[in-house]
Amino acid sequence: MPRMHNFSAGPAVLPVSVVEELRDNLLDLHGSGIGLMEISHRSKTFQAVVDSANTRVRRVLAVPDDYTVLFLQGGASLQFYMSALNLLRAGEAADFLVTGTWSQKAIKEAKRIGDAKAIWDDAPDNFRRVPGDGDYQVRDEAIYLHYTSNNTIYGTEYGRTPSSQGKPLVADLSSDIAGVPVEVARHELIYAGAQKNLGPSGVVLAILSPWALARGAEGLPAMLDYRVHAKDGSLYNTPNCVGIYVIERVFAWMEANGGLSGMIARNAGKAGMLYGELDRSGFWRPHAAKDCRSVMNVTWRLPTEDLEERFVKAAKAAGMDGLKGHRSVGGIRASLYNALEPESVRVLVDFMREFERANG
Ligand code: PMP
Repeated sequence: MPRMHNFSAGPAVLPVSVVEELRDNLLDLHGSGIGLMEISHRSKTFQAVVDSANTRVRRVLAVPDDYTVLFLQGGASLQFYMSALNLLRAGEAADFLVTGTWSQKAIKEAKRIGDAKAIWDDAPDNFRRVPGDGDYQVRDEAIYLHYTSNNTIYGTEYGRTPSSQGKPLVADLSSDIAGVPVEVARHELIYAGAQKNLGPSGVVLAILSPWALARGAEGLPAMLDYRVHAKDGSLYNTPNCVGIYVIERVFAWMEANGGLSGMIARNAGKAGMLYGELDRSGFWRPHAAKDCRSVMNVTWRLPTEDLEERFVKAAKAAGMDGLKGHRSVGGIRASLYNALEPESVRVLVDFMREFERANG
């Protein structure tokens, strides 16, 4: 069975070269004679993997020297709670830009800790937009502003760092980290589940400023305390060793392919091809407002649900998987993460033209 063109929203396509390296190192990690899943996380061999992952993340994302990079577990979903637990105290305020399902989940968890408020919420329009800097007002009493950089389900994205009006900025970058420009230094806390641009599921990248690291109250549960993980270099307990290994290799692959700017150019090219086709014909009905379009997740509808179903089925038969849209938008979603080859988008666009000819 040849590999499909994989447009899945996550877990998602990884560079073939990385998957091949993983295959080899599952049997023998770096010539140690012990497989990646079998080696002690306290071994020198594995420590070298964590150290290299840390160094590469810092280099590719231009992380300031005084920031901390962590590899955690529990998915981005645990970060919804953990970030609020560490940054907020009971009764304190935090503001949220609600641009989709994941921001809704983030604010819901933060409300368990303090006064979390949606100061912008596009739910009534089914999340076609992200706000402009003048569209919201951060409260004076807010400790921080939280936003979701890319809305995986709806296919909207900021494409810039939103203004926090002078307040500390906290961001969920799960679905566009290392795929679009990022100004790490303008954030106090960034978190991202790995399973889109960075690696497999089950490991989260967190990047914290000194302020964010110092904010946590004393006596938090150990596994939910950033300082505990920071003190032990992400090895407080047994980490997701396979996940960290793959992240290290994926960042090495990025560095060999032009680094962050290489990824940005590659992704802009892929998204340009697909949006060009969506704008060419009224047959396709893109979901996101034009100025809020995501380069990572492209969402659109067809004239009828029946046609959408046939599109997904026929695409699969033609070697393309993962194109069914999330139920909250319906229709089609094509995820174009870093590792997706431009060739896959070319194949998709050719297929779309043919599909429209036959059904338009
Ligand atoms: N945030 C965003 C933007 C996401 O796309 C997702 C998953 N699709 C999550 C958070 C939740 O991530 P996890 O499944 O790792 O908890």
